[in-house]
Amino acid sequence: MKDYQISRFCWLEFNMDNLRDNFLVLKKMVGPDVKIMPAIKVNAYSHGIVACGKVLEECGADYLGVGSIDEGILLRENGVNMPILIFASNLIQETANLYVQYHLIPTILSLEAARSFSEAVSEPSDVFIKIDTGRGRIGVNAEEFPDFFREVSQMPNLHVEGVYSHMAAVNWPDEGADYAVWQYSRFKAAMDAIGEDANRIPFRQLANTPGCIALPDIRMSGICPGRAMWGYSPLTRRAEHPELKAPLVSWKSRLVHVNEVTGGKFGEKYKAVKMDTPKRIGIMVGGMGDGISPKIAGGYVLLHGRKCPVASTVSLEHTILDLTDFPDAKPGDEIVILGRQGEEEITLEQRMEEWGLTVPRIWTEISAHLDRHYYRDGKLWAVAKDERCLLYTSPSPRDTR
Ligand SMILES: *Cc1c(COP(=O)(O)O)cnc(C)c1O
Repeated sequence: MKDYQISRFCWLEFNMDNLRDNFLVLKKMVGPDVKIMPAIKVNAYSHGIVACGKVLEECGADYLGVGSIDEGILLRENGVNMPILIFASNLIQETANLYVQYHLIPTILSLEAARSFSEAVSEPSDVFIKIDTGRGRIGVNAEEFPDFFREVSQMPNLHVEGVYSHMAAVNWPDEGADYAVWQYSRFKAAMDAIGEDANRIPFRQLANTPGCIALPDIRMSGICPGRAMWGYSPLTRRAEHPELKAPLVSWKSRLVHVNEVTGGKFGEKYKAVKMDTPKRIGIMVGGMGDGISPKIAGGYVLLHGRKCPVASTVSLEHTILDLTDFPDAKPGDEIVILGRQGEEEITLEQRMEEWGLTVPRIWTEISAHLDRHYYRDGKLWAVAKDERCLLYTSPSPRDTR
Protein backbone atom coordinates (compact mmCIF):
# COMPACT_ATOMS: atom_id res chain seq x y z
CA MET A 1 0.00 0.00 0.00
CA LYS A 2 1.70 3.18 -1.17
CA ASP A 3 0.96 6.67 -0.05
CA TYR A 4 -0.31 8.98 -2.69
CA GLN A 5 1.24 12.27 -3.62
CA ILE A 6 -0.36 14.32 -6.33
CA SER A 7 2.07 14.53 -9.22
CA ARG A 8 -0.20 15.15 -12.17
CA PHE A 9 -2.06 18.39 -11.86
CA CYS A 10 -5.12 17.58 -13.91
CA TRP A 11 -7.46 15.19 -12.14
CA LEU A 12 -11.02 14.09 -11.44
CA GLU A 13 -12.97 14.16 -8.19
CA PHE A 14 -15.93 11.91 -7.58
CA ASN A 15 -18.68 12.28 -5.03
CA MET A 16 -19.36 8.66 -4.15
CA ASP A 17 -22.24 9.61 -1.85
CA ASN A 18 -24.15 10.36 -5.06
CA LEU A 19 -23.44 6.86 -6.36
CA ARG A 20 -24.68 5.36 -3.11
CA ASP A 21 -27.78 7.57 -3.16
CA ASN A 22 -28.57 6.74 -6.80
CA PHE A 23 -28.33 3.05 -6.01
CA LEU A 24 -30.64 3.48 -3.02
CA VAL A 25 -33.16 5.44 -5.12
CA LEU A 26 -33.38 2.50 -7.52
CA LYS A 27 -33.51 0.01 -4.68
CA LYS A 28 -36.45 1.85 -3.19
CA MET A 29 -38.08 2.12 -6.61
CA VAL A 30 -37.99 -1.62 -7.35
CA GLY A 31 -38.45 -2.98 -3.84
CA PRO A 32 -36.83 -5.88 -2.02
CA ASP A 33 -37.84 -8.65 -4.46
CA VAL A 34 -36.04 -7.30 -7.50
CA LYS A 35 -32.31 -7.92 -7.76
CA ILE A 36 -30.00 -5.18 -8.99
CA MET A 37 -26.96 -5.63 -11.19
CA PRO A 38 -25.31 -2.25 -11.76
CA ALA A 39 -23.58 -2.22 -15.17
CA ILE A 40 -20.10 -0.88 -14.51
CA LYS A 41 -18.42 -1.78 -17.76
CA VAL A 42 -15.91 0.50 -19.54
CA ASN A 43 -14.23 1.42 -16.29
CA ALA A 44 -17.65 2.18 -14.77
CA TYR A 45 -18.39 4.57 -17.64
CA SER A 46 -15.00 6.19 -16.76
CA HIS A 47 -15.88 6.67 -13.10
CA GLY A 48 -13.33 4.06 -12.03
CA ILE A 49 -14.42 0.46 -11.84
CA VAL A 50 -12.73 -0.52 -8.59
CA ALA A 51 -13.99 2.36 -6.48
CA CYS A 52 -17.51 2.07 -7.92
CA GLY A 53 -17.49 -1.71 -7.49
CA LYS A 54 -16.50 -1.41 -3.86
CA VAL A 55 -19.17 1.18 -3.06
CA LEU A 56 -21.88 -0.81 -4.84
CA GLU A 57 -20.86 -4.01 -3.09
CA GLU A 58 -21.16 -2.20 0.21
CA CYS A 59 -24.59 -0.83 -0.80
CA GLY A 60 -25.91 -4.35 -1.29
CA ALA A 61 -25.98 -4.75 -5.07
CA ASP A 62 -26.70 -8.38 -5.97
CA TYR A 63 -24.28 -8.69 -8.89
CA LEU A 64 -21.95 -6.44 -10.86
CA GLY A 65 -22.00 -6.51 -14.65
CA VAL A 66 -18.71 -5.76 -16.43
CA GLY A 67 -17.57 -5.83 -20.03
CA SER A 68 -14.40 -7.88 -19.99
CA ILE A 69 -12.60 -10.58 -18.08
CA ASP A 70 -9.87 -8.03 -17.33
CA GLU A 71 -12.34 -5.78 -15.56
CA GLY A 72 -13.55 -8.75 -13.54
CA ILE A 73 -10.01 -9.67 -12.55
CA LEU A 74 -9.26 -6.07 -11.59
CA LEU A 75 -12.23 -6.10 -9.22
CA ARG A 76 -11.18 -9.42 -7.71
CA GLU A 77 -7.59 -8.29 -7.25
CA ASN A 78 -8.87 -5.24 -5.39
CA GLY A 79 -10.97 -7.20 -2.96
CA VAL A 80 -14.44 -7.18 -4.51
CA ASN A 81 -15.94 -10.55 -3.59
CA MET A 82 -19.54 -10.38 -4.80
CA PRO A 83 -20.87 -12.16 -7.91
CA ILE A 84 -19.52 -10.61 -11.13
CA LEU A 85 -21.01 -11.25 -14.56
CA ILE A 86 -18.95 -10.74 -17.71
CA PHE A 87 -21.38 -9.43 -20.34
CA ALA A 88 -19.78 -10.41 -23.60
CA SER A 89 -18.79 -13.93 -24.46
CA ASN A 90 -15.02 -13.41 -24.42
CA LEU A 91 -14.40 -16.72 -26.22
CA ILE A 92 -15.03 -18.91 -23.22
CA GLN A 93 -13.51 -21.78 -25.20
CA GLU A 94 -10.15 -20.05 -24.65
CA THR A 95 -10.66 -18.38 -21.29
CA ALA A 96 -12.68 -20.77 -19.14
CA ASN A 97 -9.68 -21.15 -16.80
CA LEU A 98 -9.81 -17.43 -15.97
CA TYR A 99 -13.50 -17.57 -15.14
CA VAL A 100 -12.80 -20.45 -12.81
CA GLN A 101 -9.70 -18.93 -11.23
CA TYR A 102 -11.36 -15.59 -10.50
CA HIS A 103 -14.89 -16.85 -9.84
CA LEU A 104 -16.38 -14.84 -12.67
CA ILE A 105 -19.75 -15.67 -14.19
CA PRO A 106 -19.77 -16.18 -17.95
CA THR A 107 -22.47 -15.13 -20.36
CA ILE A 108 -23.27 -18.19 -22.43
CA LEU A 109 -24.09 -17.59 -26.08
CA SER A 110 -23.37 -20.96 -27.64
CA LEU A 111 -23.41 -24.63 -26.73
CA GLU A 112 -19.68 -24.84 -27.46
CA ALA A 113 -19.03 -22.15 -24.88
CA ALA A 114 -21.27 -23.89 -22.37
CA ARG A 115 -19.44 -27.19 -22.92
CA SER A 116 -16.03 -25.56 -22.48
CA PHE A 117 -17.09 -23.99 -19.23
CA SER A 118 -18.73 -27.18 -18.02
CA GLU A 119 -15.50 -29.08 -18.65
CA ALA A 120 -13.43 -26.44 -16.86
CA VAL A 121 -15.42 -26.34 -13.61
CA SER A 122 -15.18 -28.95 -10.91
CA GLU A 123 -18.10 -27.81 -8.81
CA PRO A 124 -21.59 -26.41 -9.55
CA SER A 125 -21.08 -22.97 -11.10
CA ASP A 126 -23.39 -20.15 -12.15
CA VAL A 127 -23.84 -19.12 -15.74
CA PHE A 128 -26.05 -16.51 -17.38
CA ILE A 129 -27.65 -16.95 -20.78
CA LYS A 130 -28.16 -13.88 -22.92
CA ILE A 131 -31.06 -13.87 -25.32
CA ASP A 132 -31.61 -11.51 -28.18
CA THR A 133 -35.12 -10.13 -27.98
CA GLY A 134 -34.77 -7.47 -30.66
CA ARG A 135 -31.63 -5.44 -30.26
CA GLY A 136 -30.26 -7.61 -33.02
CA ARG A 137 -26.78 -7.93 -31.63
CA ILE A 138 -25.72 -10.49 -29.05
CA GLY A 139 -27.64 -13.45 -27.76
CA VAL A 140 -29.47 -16.67 -28.42
CA ASN A 141 -32.63 -15.94 -30.41
CA ALA A 142 -35.58 -15.75 -28.05
CA GLU A 143 -37.44 -18.47 -29.96
CA GLU A 144 -34.49 -20.86 -29.71
CA PHE A 145 -34.04 -20.26 -26.01
CA PRO A 146 -36.14 -23.15 -24.61
CA ASP A 147 -34.09 -25.87 -26.34
CA PHE A 148 -30.87 -24.03 -25.60
CA PHE A 149 -31.76 -23.66 -21.95
CA ARG A 150 -32.56 -27.37 -21.59
CA GLU A 151 -29.25 -28.43 -23.09
CA VAL A 152 -27.21 -26.04 -20.99
CA SER A 153 -29.04 -26.96 -17.77
CA GLN A 154 -28.22 -30.60 -18.32
CA MET A 155 -24.49 -30.07 -18.69
CA PRO A 156 -22.47 -31.16 -15.66
CA ASN A 157 -21.96 -28.49 -13.01
CA LEU A 158 -23.79 -25.70 -14.84
CA HIS A 159 -26.44 -23.77 -12.96
CA VAL A 160 -28.40 -21.17 -14.92
CA GLU A 161 -28.46 -18.30 -12.44
CA GLY A 162 -29.63 -15.66 -14.86
CA VAL A 163 -31.22 -14.96 -18.21
CA TYR A 164 -31.00 -11.49 -19.61
CA SER A 165 -31.44 -9.41 -22.70
CA HIS A 166 -30.56 -5.86 -23.67
CA MET A 167 -33.07 -3.18 -24.63
CA ALA A 168 -32.61 -1.54 -27.99
CA ALA A 169 -33.86 1.84 -26.78
CA VAL A 170 -33.73 3.42 -30.19
CA ASN A 171 -35.30 6.86 -30.35
CA TRP A 172 -36.19 6.71 -26.68
CA PRO A 173 -38.81 7.32 -25.38
CA ASP A 174 -40.99 7.62 -28.47
CA GLU A 175 -40.82 4.39 -30.44
CA GLY A 176 -38.28 3.08 -27.92
CA ALA A 177 -40.80 2.38 -25.19
CA ASP A 178 -43.13 0.41 -27.48
CA TYR A 179 -40.19 -1.51 -28.83
CA ALA A 180 -39.05 -2.40 -25.31
CA VAL A 181 -42.51 -3.72 -24.47
CA TRP A 182 -42.38 -5.87 -27.61
CA GLN A 183 -38.95 -7.13 -26.57
CA TYR A 184 -40.43 -7.99 -23.19
CA SER A 185 -43.21 -10.01 -24.83
CA ARG A 186 -40.57 -12.11 -26.62
CA PHE A 187 -38.64 -12.54 -23.39
CA LYS A 188 -41.78 -13.58 -21.57
CA ALA A 189 -42.74 -16.08 -24.27
CA ALA A 190 -39.29 -17.65 -23.93
CA MET A 191 -39.80 -17.95 -20.16
CA ASP A 192 -43.31 -19.34 -20.51
CA ALA A 193 -41.95 -21.99 -22.83
CA ILE A 194 -39.77 -23.47 -20.10
CA GLY A 195 -42.62 -23.52 -17.59
CA GLU A 196 -41.83 -23.86 -13.90
CA ASP A 197 -38.09 -23.83 -14.57
CA ALA A 198 -38.33 -20.11 -15.29
CA ASN A 199 -39.19 -19.34 -11.66
CA ARG A 200 -36.11 -21.21 -10.56
CA ILE A 201 -33.87 -18.76 -12.45
CA PRO A 202 -33.12 -16.08 -9.86
CA PHE A 203 -32.20 -13.24 -12.24
CA ARG A 204 -34.48 -12.58 -15.21
CA GLN A 205 -33.72 -9.19 -16.62
CA LEU A 206 -34.35 -6.94 -19.59
CA ALA A 207 -34.37 -3.48 -18.03
CA ASN A 208 -31.45 -1.11 -18.53
CA THR A 209 -31.73 2.46 -17.22
CA PRO A 210 -34.74 3.69 -19.23
CA GLY A 211 -36.44 0.32 -18.79
CA CYS A 212 -36.10 0.11 -15.04
CA ILE A 213 -37.22 3.68 -14.46
CA ALA A 214 -39.91 4.21 -17.06
CA LEU A 215 -41.30 0.70 -17.62
CA PRO A 216 -42.01 -0.99 -14.27
CA ASP A 217 -43.93 -3.76 -16.03
CA ILE A 218 -40.88 -5.19 -17.75
CA ARG A 219 -38.81 -5.51 -14.59
CA MET A 220 -39.24 -9.24 -13.87
CA SER A 221 -36.85 -10.35 -11.11
CA GLY A 222 -33.93 -8.08 -11.94
CA ILE A 223 -32.73 -4.78 -13.37
CA CYS A 224 -29.40 -3.77 -14.86
CA PRO A 225 -28.93 -0.01 -14.66
CA GLY A 226 -25.82 1.66 -16.04
CA ARG A 227 -26.44 5.35 -16.68
CA ALA A 228 -28.78 5.70 -13.70
CA MET A 229 -25.86 4.93 -11.39
CA TRP A 230 -24.29 8.20 -12.51
CA GLY A 231 -27.60 10.01 -12.25
CA TYR A 232 -28.74 9.88 -15.87
CA SER A 233 -31.89 8.33 -17.21
CA PRO A 234 -32.09 9.02 -20.69
CA LEU A 235 -30.86 12.52 -20.43
CA THR A 236 -33.93 14.14 -21.98
CA ARG A 237 -36.08 12.72 -19.20
CA ARG A 238 -33.75 13.55 -16.35
CA ALA A 239 -36.05 16.25 -15.08
CA GLU A 240 -38.63 13.58 -14.36
CA HIS A 241 -36.29 11.78 -12.00
CA PRO A 242 -35.25 14.53 -9.66
CA GLU A 243 -34.09 12.09 -7.02
CA LEU A 244 -31.16 10.88 -9.09
CA LYS A 245 -28.04 12.89 -8.40
CA ALA A 246 -25.74 13.93 -11.22
CA PRO A 247 -23.00 14.23 -11.99
CA LEU A 248 -20.64 12.38 -9.69
CA VAL A 249 -17.60 13.96 -11.27
CA SER A 250 -15.74 17.26 -11.08
CA TRP A 251 -12.74 17.88 -13.30
CA LYS A 252 -9.94 20.05 -11.99
CA SER A 253 -6.53 21.35 -12.87
CA ARG A 254 -3.90 23.78 -11.64
CA LEU A 255 -2.09 26.70 -13.16
CA VAL A 256 1.54 25.68 -13.62
CA HIS A 257 2.95 28.73 -15.35
CA VAL A 258 2.09 32.39 -15.76
CA ASN A 259 3.69 34.40 -18.52
CA GLU A 260 3.66 37.78 -20.26
CA VAL A 261 3.75 36.98 -23.95
CA THR A 262 5.27 39.81 -25.95
CA GLY A 263 6.47 38.14 -29.14
CA GLY A 264 4.91 38.36 -32.58
CA LYS A 265 5.75 34.92 -33.87
CA PHE A 266 2.98 33.15 -32.04
CA GLY A 267 0.35 35.53 -33.33
CA GLU A 268 1.79 35.43 -36.82
CA LYS A 269 1.90 31.68 -37.11
CA TYR A 270 -1.50 30.95 -35.61
CA LYS A 271 -3.64 33.57 -37.26
CA ALA A 272 -6.81 32.07 -35.86
CA VAL A 273 -5.68 32.99 -32.37
CA LYS A 274 -6.45 36.53 -31.41
CA MET A 275 -3.58 37.44 -29.16
CA ASP A 276 -2.90 41.15 -28.71
CA THR A 277 0.55 41.44 -27.25
CA PRO A 278 1.75 41.90 -24.64
CA LYS A 279 -0.64 39.50 -23.04
CA ARG A 280 -0.80 37.86 -19.65
CA ILE A 281 -1.40 34.16 -20.08
CA GLY A 282 -1.62 31.13 -17.81
CA ILE A 283 -0.82 27.52 -18.63
CA MET A 284 -3.37 25.03 -17.38
CA VAL A 285 -2.37 21.38 -17.14
CA GLY A 286 -4.52 19.26 -19.41
CA GLY A 287 -5.23 19.16 -23.12
CA MET A 288 -6.55 16.90 -25.83
CA GLY A 289 -4.57 13.99 -24.44
CA ASP A 290 -6.61 14.21 -21.27
CA GLY A 291 -9.94 14.37 -23.05
CA ILE A 292 -10.38 18.14 -23.15
CA SER A 293 -12.14 18.96 -26.39
CA PRO A 294 -10.48 21.45 -28.75
CA LYS A 295 -13.90 23.10 -28.72
CA ILE A 296 -13.07 24.57 -25.32
CA ALA A 297 -11.05 27.23 -27.20
CA GLY A 298 -13.03 30.46 -27.02
CA GLY A 299 -14.90 29.10 -24.01
CA TYR A 300 -13.94 29.30 -20.37
CA VAL A 301 -12.89 27.48 -17.23
CA LEU A 302 -13.29 28.65 -13.64
CA LEU A 303 -10.49 30.39 -11.74
CA HIS A 304 -10.82 32.33 -8.48
CA GLY A 305 -14.54 31.58 -8.63
CA ARG A 306 -14.94 33.44 -11.92
CA LYS A 307 -15.06 32.62 -15.62
CA CYS A 308 -11.58 32.65 -17.11
CA PRO A 309 -11.37 32.70 -20.92
CA VAL A 310 -9.48 29.99 -22.78
CA ALA A 311 -7.11 31.93 -25.03
CA SER A 312 -6.02 29.46 -27.63
CA THR A 313 -6.41 26.20 -29.37
CA VAL A 314 -5.77 23.27 -27.09
CA SER A 315 -2.56 21.28 -27.34
CA LEU A 316 -2.00 17.71 -26.25
CA GLU A 317 -1.02 18.47 -22.69
CA HIS A 318 -1.78 22.13 -22.07
CA THR A 319 -4.40 24.77 -22.49
CA ILE A 320 -3.62 28.48 -22.54
CA LEU A 321 -5.79 30.79 -20.46
CA ASP A 322 -6.18 34.52 -20.88
CA LEU A 323 -5.27 36.06 -17.51
CA THR A 324 -5.79 39.70 -18.51
CA ASP A 325 -8.47 40.08 -15.84
CA PHE A 326 -6.64 37.96 -13.27
CA PRO A 327 -3.66 40.04 -12.17
CA ASP A 328 -3.29 37.98 -8.97
CA ALA A 329 -3.30 34.55 -10.62
CA LYS A 330 -0.19 32.54 -9.84
CA PRO A 331 1.15 29.02 -10.40
CA GLY A 332 -0.63 26.53 -8.17
CA ASP A 333 -4.07 28.15 -8.37
CA GLU A 334 -6.88 25.65 -8.82
CA ILE A 335 -8.92 25.57 -12.02
CA VAL A 336 -12.30 23.92 -12.58
CA ILE A 337 -13.01 22.42 -16.01
CA LEU A 338 -16.21 20.73 -14.90
CA GLY A 339 -18.01 21.35 -11.65
CA ARG A 340 -18.36 24.12 -9.12
CA GLN A 341 -16.01 26.82 -7.86
CA GLY A 342 -17.43 29.42 -5.51
CA GLU A 343 -20.68 30.70 -6.96
CA GLU A 344 -19.95 29.53 -10.49
CA GLU A 345 -20.62 26.11 -11.96
CA ILE A 346 -19.87 24.41 -15.26
CA THR A 347 -22.33 21.55 -15.65
CA LEU A 348 -21.94 18.29 -17.52
CA GLU A 349 -24.87 19.27 -19.74
CA GLN A 350 -23.10 22.53 -20.63
CA ARG A 351 -19.88 20.75 -21.56
CA MET A 352 -21.78 18.11 -23.56
CA GLU A 353 -23.49 20.82 -25.56
CA GLU A 354 -20.33 22.86 -26.12
CA TRP A 355 -18.26 19.83 -27.05
CA GLY A 356 -21.00 18.16 -29.09
CA LEU A 357 -21.02 14.98 -27.00
CA THR A 358 -23.73 12.80 -25.53
CA VAL A 359 -23.94 10.75 -22.36
CA PRO A 360 -22.05 8.41 -22.18
CA ARG A 361 -19.56 9.78 -24.72
CA ILE A 362 -18.52 12.66 -22.51
CA TRP A 363 -17.36 10.09 -19.98
CA THR A 364 -15.53 7.87 -22.42
CA GLU A 365 -13.70 10.91 -23.78
CA ILE A 366 -12.21 11.61 -20.35
CA SER A 367 -8.80 10.03 -20.38
CA ALA A 368 -8.22 6.89 -18.35
CA HIS A 369 -4.84 8.18 -17.22
CA LEU A 370 -6.18 11.00 -15.08
CA ASP A 371 -5.95 10.40 -11.34
CA ARG A 372 -9.31 9.85 -9.73
CA HIS A 373 -9.95 11.16 -6.24
CA TYR A 374 -12.92 9.64 -4.45
CA TYR A 375 -14.82 11.44 -1.71
CA ARG A 376 -17.25 9.97 0.78
CA ASP A 377 -19.02 12.01 3.45
CA GLY A 378 -17.09 15.01 2.15
CA LYS A 379 -13.74 13.41 2.94
CA LEU A 380 -11.14 11.93 0.65
CA TRP A 381 -11.62 8.17 0.77
CA ALA A 382 -9.39 6.70 -1.96
CA VAL A 383 -7.40 7.50 -5.06
CA ALA A 384 -7.09 5.54 -8.28
CA LYS A 385 -4.09 6.18 -10.44
CA ASP A 386 -4.10 5.29 -14.14
CA GLU A 387 -6.58 3.01 -15.79
CA ARG A 388 -5.32 0.07 -13.76
CA CYS A 389 -7.13 1.74 -10.90
CA LEU A 390 -4.76 0.95 -8.10
CA LEU A 391 -6.46 2.00 -4.98
CA TYR A 392 -4.58 3.83 -2.31
CA THR A 393 -6.45 3.43 0.91
CA SER A 394 -4.35 5.81 2.95
CA PRO A 395 -3.85 8.68 0.58
CA SER A 396 -2.29 11.93 1.58
CA PRO A 397 -2.83 14.15 -1.44
CA ARG A 398 -1.54 17.60 -1.04
CA ASP A 399 -4.16 20.29 -1.31
CA THR A 400 -6.92 18.65 -3.30
CA ARG A 401 -10.05 20.48 -2.42
C1 LIG B 1 -24.43 -1.45 -20.45
C2 LIG B 1 -25.49 -2.41 -20.24
C3 LIG B 1 -26.63 -2.06 -19.50
C4 LIG B 1 -26.84 -0.69 -18.89
O1 LIG B 1 -27.29 0.22 -19.86
P1 LIG B 1 -27.77 1.71 -19.45
O2 LIG B 1 -28.61 2.11 -20.58
O3 LIG B 1 -26.53 2.54 -19.31
O4 LIG B 1 -28.52 1.60 -18.18
C5 LIG B 1 -27.59 -3.02 -19.30
N1 LIG B 1 -27.46 -4.26 -19.81
C6 LIG B 1 -26.38 -4.63 -20.53
C7 LIG B 1 -26.30 -6.01 -21.07
C8 LIG B 1 -25.37 -3.73 -20.77
O5 LIG B 1 -24.30 -4.08 -21.50
